[in-house]
Amino acid sequence: MNRKLFDYIAACPTAFHTCAHSADMLRAAGYTELCEAQRWEIVPGGKYFVTRNGSSLIAFRVPTGEIAGFMMTAAHGDSPSFKIKENAELSDGNYLRLSVEKYGGMLCAPWLDRPLSVAGRVLVSKGDTLSVKLVDLQEPCAIIPNVAIHMNRNANDGTKYNAAVDMLPVWMSSEKGSFRAAVAKAAGVSEDAIVTGDLFLYDPQKGVTLGEYISAPRLDDLQCAFSSLTAFLAAGESRAVPVCCIFDNEEVGSETKQGAASTFLYDTLTRLCAALGMDGSEYRRLVAGSFLVSCDNAHAVHPNHGEFADRNHTARMNGGVVIKYNANQRYTSDAVSAGIFRRICESAGVPVQYYANRADMPGGSTLGNISNTQVSLNAVDIGLAQLAMHSPFETAGAADTASLVKALTAFFEHSLVAERDGVYRFL
Ligand code: ZN
Repeated sequence: MNRKLFDYIAACPTAFHTCAHSADMLRAAGYTELCEAQRWEIVPGGKYFVTRNGSSLIAFRVPTGEIAGFMMTAAHGDSPSFKIKENAELSDGNYLRLSVEKYGGMLCAPWLDRPLSVAGRVLVSKGDTLSVKLVDLQEPCAIIPNVAIHMNRNANDGTKYNAAVDMLPVWMSSEKGSFRAAVAKAAGVSEDAIVTGDLFLYDPQKGVTLGEYISAPRLDDLQCAFSSLTAFLAAGESRAVPVCCIFDNEEVGSETKQGAASTFLYDTLTRLCAALGMDGSEYRRLVAGSFLVSCDNAHAVHPNHGEFADRNHTARMNGGVVIKYNANQRYTSDAVSAGIFRRICESAGVPVQYYANRADMPGGSTLGNISNTQVSLNAVDIGLAQLAMHSPFETAGAADTASLVKALTAFFEHSLVAERDGVYRFL
């Protein structure tokens, strides 16, 4: 399972590639692509997916019988990185560097002295048409060099990294124009045809297994994106509509037209209902009995810094699915949603563990509470335990990918009915 995960990660250097590669997997499994700008024909028993901005994707299947609700997962396809600015080339006559800015909240230090590549999308002009083309240089082509210890004797005493000074990568060639030429070559178009682009640095290293652990780039959150999509494709039919969402822009707050805070999920579900002849009140009735699993990786207890973990809510790699709690509802898990999901994990034989931040440490936020502002329903926040979150190379449990696939397959095979507020029954 982890070998497939590593292949998925290698094919997904940016959110655009995560979306495109996931769409390819769905097409290969017989799914029909819907376009938001066109009318939707949806039939019982049909399998569909829709993308927005080429960076967020929602896939769903329509059961043949009466629909009981939506059983949904949400993961994110973006990761912290450095975005290459529009006027990318910074030439000083000696080096050619790339002008970059931070995308998301990364750990800066591990991005240094690491062979990096470039991927993203370009907008190509041909006649009166503008079209998006994905680009992936694949090979290492840039590096952000450290200052030697001899010139920075305090380097090991806590270094501040200024993104405008310390984090600018050196491009592989000092020749002016060579970056632009390499991007055009990778896109298979002439330089003149490229109007603009959204390009990012990424770590092209392939994932590795370290005995009980795996280390790879972008495990947050491609481990969950891969696991949820794999489970979605493997699950048998239930009475609910299984829905698999992979959103862009989680790392920058989700408040974009394609992020979890956008109308993308609401628009998709309401259009699906309308295409099947349901009205707005039918849609709301279905949502009331629906469920969302927000899947985003969790912090494993650190081997050298156990003090950062809450003593009773310490997530362990290879300990199974982590259910995340936060009293301020940055995580959506509550008694009802965590209880329902725990029952499903138990039915699949997958262990669960509980995570909460130390009470004196604020945690991050994720997809569930943000998505709930557009489509409000019972939701649980879960993930897999990992180390070094937001480093370009992260570490997780080797057994956990398969556990999450198993748990989410069982989830997609369940359907739920809210008999009244506070009373839920599995169908
Ligand atoms: Zn994440």
